[in-house]
Amino acid sequence: MNDSPTDSNSRSPASAEANAASAEAGEAFCTRSIHGGLGPDPGTGAILTPIHQSTTFVQAAVGVDKGFTYSRSGNPTVAALERNLGALEHAPAAASFATGMAAITALALSTLRAGDRVLLSDVVYGGTLRLLRDVLAPFGVSHQVVDSSDSLALREALKQPTRLVVVESPANPTLKLTDLRAAAAAAHDSGALLAVDNTVLTAALQRPFELGADVVVYSTTKFIEGHNTTVGGALLSRDQALLDRFRFVQNAVGFAQAPFEAWLTLRGIKTLELRVRQHSYNALRVARFLESHPAVARIWYPGLPSFPQYELAQAQQDAGGGLLAFELVGGAPAGRLLMERVKLCSLAENLGAVETLITHPATMTHSDIPPAQRQAVGISDGLVRLSVGLEDPDDIVADLTRALAEIADPARGAE
Ligand code: PLP
Repeated sequence: MNDSPTDSNSRSPASAEANAASAEAGEAFCTRSIHGGLGPDPGTGAILTPIHQSTTFVQAAVGVDKGFTYSRSGNPTVAALERNLGALEHAPAAASFATGMAAITALALSTLRAGDRVLLSDVVYGGTLRLLRDVLAPFGVSHQVVDSSDSLALREALKQPTRLVVVESPANPTLKLTDLRAAAAAAHDSGALLAVDNTVLTAALQRPFELGADVVVYSTTKFIEGHNTTVGGALLSRDQALLDRFRFVQNAVGFAQAPFEAWLTLRGIKTLELRVRQHSYNALRVARFLESHPAVARIWYPGLPSFPQYELAQAQQDAGGGLLAFELVGGAPAGRLLMERVKLCSLAENLGAVETLITHPATMTHSDIPPAQRQAVGISDGLVRLSVGLEDPDDIVADLTRALAEIADPARGAE
């Protein structure tokens, strides 16, 4: 164990040291996910961190508190989550947020000022682009979209002064990869920070800090919490000054995560590695099925040898992850029919949960991106995104097989 019971529920420097000790001890990922930064409740011995559902914390005297004063600026359950997230990445305690978008907004507010410029991967979650375009641009922060899978294009774009580079790898929804080591070198050569949104793989399968990232971003809503139960976000950095700035913005703007959400997220993390490995196993099984199905025109899954950046995936990721995308021979109408015919797979936004979710990025997660821009980066109207869950993969394949057969022969659906 990494933490003494007495400091297990505070944000004291001692708990930051405990995180570092965990890193030095070289404990395996699954051990850190269960124990990292955590310990039994000092008051009761409860093995799980209690849900400290309290707005305020009574002070013994003016200026004398136990590390917590008001839950916007810090809460013991949220602090436990932050230490645990840090332990996963061999980093100091994270800053956690009410949503992934709050985390990305805090990243922007912490690092950018009017006149600064951001480089953004051309394939990212639609909300990230919307934030830069519709919220931050009016405040004088400009952005340029770049194909960050092309290291030369990224270096070329970095010839203009840039403060922050934001990439997703694999990117939602086309799974396009960025060579993170090359991106970090290019960003640093030009004096920019590299932030990697690692939501699609998590630290169980990809460790951006080891590849040179300055900041790692999460929507914990996805695989980290993993059960379609909460929304949340996190920022991690090994640079204490940056982390302090994230915390300052977290409190100043009021983006903090709530204690119950933090507790559910902590519980989800305990099985993170098991889940993402099984998600990857199931996704590869489903991807192989789709690749060999005559109704499927194209499939993108980093674990398939046919994936255009398969070698990079092999070098950079431990497994393919749980997300894949495909297009049907019948294009958008067929894709739409499939999404309506599946039964075990649920037509819904979100990814990374135990339930298999099927999503239409063009009208759902990426609908705020203008159609031409969307199509230029491969998010066609026919693109179907599948977040492969933890049901038996044979059952997922059976559901897709039946739905595809019904599309080919609508009379079957009526039987
Ligand atoms: N980053 C990625 C890769 C996402 O897919 C999402 C949401 O889908 C976000 C960030 C935003 O997270 P949230 O929905 O928790 O605000």
